[in-house]
Amino acid sequence: MGKYVYLFHEGNASKKDLLGGKGANLAEMTGLGLPVPRGFTVTTEACTRYYNDGRAIGVDIEGEILKMLRTLENNIGKKFGDLDNPLLVSVRSGSRASMPGMMDTILNLGLNDEVVVGLAKLTSNERFAYDSYRRFIQMFGDVVMDVKKEKFEEILSEAKKSKNLKSDTELTAEDLKAIVVKYKELFLREKGSEFPQKPKEQLIMAIKAVFRSWENDRAVVYRRLNDIPADWGTAVNVQEMVYGNMGDDCGTGVAFTRNPNTGEKKIYGEFLLNAQGEDVVAGIRTPQPLEHLEKVNPVAYRELLNIAETLEKHYRDMQDMEFTVERGKLFMLQTRNGKRTGVAALKIAVDLVNEEVLSEEEALMKVDPKQLDALLHPNFDPVTLKAATPIGKGLPASPGAATGKIYFDAKDAVDAFNAGEKQIILIRAETSPEDIEGMNVAEGILTSRGGMTSHAAVVARGMGKCCIAGCDDLAINEKDKCFVAEDGTKYCEGDWISINGTSGFVYGEKLPTIEADMSEEFDTVMFWADKFRTLKVRTNADTPKDAAAAIKFGAEGIGLCRTEHMFFEEDRIAAMREMIISNTEEQRRRALEKILPMQKADFEGIFRVMKGRPVTIRLLDPPLHEFLPQKDSDIKALAEDMGIGHDDLVGIVAQLHETNPMLGNRGCRLAIMYPEIAEVQTRAIIEAAINVTKEGVSVSPEIMIPLVCDNRELLYVKNIVVETADRLIREAGTKLDYLVGTMIEIPRACLTADIIAKDADFFSFGTNDLTQMTYGLSRDDAGRILDTYFDKKIFEYDPTTKIDPQGVGRLMKMAVELARCVKKDIKLGICGEHGGDPSSVEFCHNIGMEYVSCSPYRVPIAKLAAAQAMVNTFVQTC
Ligand code: ADP
Ligand code: MG
Ligand code: MG
Repeated sequence: MGKYVYLFHEGNASKKDLLGGKGANLAEMTGLGLPVPRGFTVTTEACTRYYNDGRAIGVDIEGEILKMLRTLENNIGKKFGDLDNPLLVSVRSGSRASMPGMMDTILNLGLNDEVVVGLAKLTSNERFAYDSYRRFIQMFGDVVMDVKKEKFEEILSEAKKSKNLKSDTELTAEDLKAIVVKYKELFLREKGSEFPQKPKEQLIMAIKAVFRSWENDRAVVYRRLNDIPADWGTAVNVQEMVYGNMGDDCGTGVAFTRNPNTGEKKIYGEFLLNAQGEDVVAGIRTPQPLEHLEKVNPVAYRELLNIAETLEKHYRDMQDMEFTVERGKLFMLQTRNGKRTGVAALKIAVDLVNEEVLSEEEALMKVDPKQLDALLHPNFDPVTLKAATPIGKGLPASPGAATGKIYFDAKDAVDAFNAGEKQIILIRAETSPEDIEGMNVAEGILTSRGGMTSHAAVVARGMGKCCIAGCDDLAINEKDKCFVAEDGTKYCEGDWISINGTSGFVYGEKLPTIEADMSEEFDTVMFWADKFRTLKVRTNADTPKDAAAAIKFGAEGIGLCRTEHMFFEEDRIAAMREMIISNTEEQRRRALEKILPMQKADFEGIFRVMKGRPVTIRLLDPPLHEFLPQKDSDIKALAEDMGIGHDDLVGIVAQLHETNPMLGNRGCRLAIMYPEIAEVQTRAIIEAAINVTKEGVSVSPEIMIPLVCDNRELLYVKNIVVETADRLIREAGTKLDYLVGTMIEIPRACLTADIIAKDADFFSFGTNDLTQMTYGLSRDDAGRILDTYFDKKIFEYDPTTKIDPQGVGRLMKMAVELARCVKKDIKLGICGEHGGDPSSVEFCHNIGMEYVSCSPYRVPIAKLAAAQAMVNTFVQTC
């Protein structure tokens, strides 16, 4: 029989998988001799069993828990349910990966109508006893019994309002007693039974609820956003309570060993006097900076500094700690590697190397590639910013700039986003984990309540989004979806505002933004990444401007230049339409001749910027109908241009209609249908290359034939390309090396990769289409379908943003192996959206790709992810 319960004394930090992060670190701190309230951990394996056993705790596990409880009682000298000296515990979730606030915690468990009287007597503090009891009923009611938190909050607010009180701490013992009565009535009304009075029963119910909370909506969403597998499960920690709510010599707080916003090496945190756990993070009361603790309790403050130093040295990383002071004495309740902004992550990584705490490889692993995103994104233009007048100021909770339309509800924000609104600012009085999806789609988050460690602040920093917290200058009305600024101006849903998460200022207008300015630490970390990675990083760029931006970010080539984007521009689409509508080759050639010089100029610009770095240019790819005129005015204009009748043109357009354009006349099929397209495009590429070579700039064009499912398609188009190119090069009397390869984006191409490889100089995996076709799931409609799949827990993540290793990835791996069998030195890379996703980058590294290609802004992310993949492989093989 397995062991499912461990005393803190029995564990340590290396048992994270079994004890969860919180439990393992509580055990580690206990081992270090730090002041940690005693307790035990029910393992993640027990959680897995809970789910396997049909959401039930086995009798053996329950027996083990109760036995461990007795041990705890004996060790502490208090007893569960005892009237003279009762033991109260907290029941805390904690999975392998930290998921702050995503799952549930219950405090003061063990109280009932009688124990509360005993506790009051024992502590001679009736107010404290009833404050604890009302908190317990509320948390237990909410977490275990599903009675809405708001209903309890309402009773509490009502009590304060009727006495004109501002803060919970002003409530007297009598007030709290009355609240407890009302809470219990509410419970009875909602559940049809009395509030559970037996502590052991409460305990088992609470443990089950924590196991259950692993599957709550916000935890599921959080896991999806953070690549945490569903089968990990959560552990449960049962820990003796210490009390921060006994009076003004008590309190609770959080502290970071370094500043999580800037990385500055100085302890940073917040605390609240006379309060319990959740008060600090929930943002109900605005906490005080940690320095204030030095004034009210210098001994505890100094002890906290010492412990912070010990912990940081021990874990060799910045720590995020939770503590409580009970009657002047400090207790540690949690430590973990602290979440930090991208700026702070870079600074801390570089500082820890300079302090000789970490090696460069280790430091690299401390920066989450996804966080670089925020750093690379624009800031407000300082000139316009200076001229703008703020309409309010809050706490600068997560740096960066955001401008967008305002939404007051997470769901409204998500709906707007799905409807195509890409610039969204989410405004809430305070956020809670339920808001996570809304925060995810927003550019920035603004709250009127809460401190620097409020939920909004912590989560925004983790997501790398800009956030202002505690901005009470704005009177927010969530119900009417509007806010009123101090000057009386009203802003409603859909209005534009701008927020500066670095300064805390809010502006009532749309402000222009400018490119980010990279720090020295950024360069250092990128330098390390370049040193360790083997996977190359290219960019997807269609214009010289994008290409130049990508080079600044360190791109080593262009992995995908989409030629069709060049056709969508206002002045070119007409020529393109003409080509599609053409009935004869001659007509078509005439239209193409118009396009040729434009394409050539584009390619010349790109080659000049790329200075000899490889440039993969894809021949025309999208379904033709995307170019067709839709509006009647366009049809009229085109008909006139081409000198054909309006009705004839309508007929041609109808003829070109396809039932399934995504699976229709696109990719290499276009070039097979109209070979002159491939010919003219090749001419544009090769003539541009020759011209730029003559300027003394070297060029390496790679011509890519899209959407091939059979080698004969490739051969047909390749012949046109090679014939055209070689003739032009001969005629010019120059020398020019170029490659011809194909995109691998149809499952059949993967299955026949060895045959196709014989005729291809390179493969570029188009993972967008490959995912769509492997899943048989349209990219354009995936969103709605996947939402349902997430809700029904059928899928955990979106395969269009992260390579699915089991299916799509398996095809890729197979294709890589088949191709290398027949052509050892074939160039292999990917050019889908996945190229900028860290876990997909790691996958590409592992299957032996030569490069990934992603959008310019994501180049540094991919580079760092590539270096981390290399370090990981190295660690695994050692
Ligand atoms: P989360 O994972 O959401 O941070 P925790 O389990 O850390 O949840 O609990 C939240 C807060 O509850 C803690 O920060 C702490 O202040 C308080 N808390 C938890 N356990 C205890 C305890 N044994 N004694 C006093 N306070 C506690
Ligand atoms: Mg915590
Ligand atoms: Mg494609």
